[in-house]
Amino acid sequence: MADLTFDQLIAVLAATRPSYAETEQMRQWLAGIDQGAQCRALIEETARGRPCPRCGCGRMHRCGQASGLQRFRCLGCSRTYNALTGTPLARLRKREHWLAYFQCALDSLVVRAAAAKIGVHRTTSFRWRHRFIPAAAQNRPTVLGDIVEADETYLLESQKGSRQMTRPARRRGGVAHQRGINGAYDCLLVARDRGGRTLAFHTGRGPVTAAQLGACLGPVLLPGEVLYSDGAAAYQRFASLHGVKHAWVNARAGEHARGNIHIQNVNAWHARLKGWLVHFRGVASHYLAHYANWYRVLDERHLGTPTALLVAAAQRY
Ligand SMILES: [Zn+2]
Repeated sequence: MADLTFDQLIAVLAATRPSYAETEQMRQWLAGIDQGAQCRALIEETARGRPCPRCGCGRMHRCGQASGLQRFRCLGCSRTYNALTGTPLARLRKREHWLAYFQCALDSLVVRAAAAKIGVHRTTSFRWRHRFIPAAAQNRPTVLGDIVEADETYLLESQKGSRQMTRPARRRGGVAHQRGINGAYDCLLVARDRGGRTLAFHTGRGPVTAAQLGACLGPVLLPGEVLYSDGAAAYQRFASLHGVKHAWVNARAGEHARGNIHIQNVNAWHARLKGWLVHFRGVASHYLAHYANWYRVLDERHLGTPTALLVAAAQRY
């Protein structure tokens, strides 16, 4: 069989008179080859001209192939690298399934459903989820513009999937033992400008602090921009420390808007996120930021195809 020419192989296949099931099997096999080649071409194209990931030297020469990708040897540090070295996708296998997996991400499939659809083990599906999605989500606004609404939403801390729980399991999953926002809740800070650019940050457990606001919002708010929030003291402290213009609505007193001043866009985003999270039946706190960023990518629709997601994920940041 190995000595057949391509034409002879086709003749053998034709003479075999494959059944419908066999034809389907061949079709899937060919699609896998095609997708693998397409994936490789996109990755190589995305990385074209990139300098060495270790020393930044731009001079290299070609040095054979490794893992199905062109390998380069850096003329500065003599180390070898390929298009994915230094990206979150480095050393992941089964590239022929990646584009299909990104489609599963666009379809918001849970880990098991994606595994079944692609035909990979669910541990592979899980690993890919938590590499591919944060990688693609690196494509994010670096600054927010003009008017920025910020507010936090709180989700009950979850140790889903954890082998060693640090507290007794909650019965029926759902409620904290104490009322109010406390250490049993994860804080997700969301900032959204009036142009729809959005950033989400998992700040940790319990109420957000001025220092956390500074770390998250400080770098993305330009001088002169206006921040709208609720009346929480942390925002006022952050705004005065960072010289940010600030206006707030007194949500506790039932005030939702005062003219143009409101946080309804960011609150609507929270509601959409929580609606989307329902079908995952709870997400582990450890991965909360991944899910929030996944939702951000879906909601923005800038990366609406598997190829766009792949190109974003193959960037080196
Ligand atoms: Zn180098």
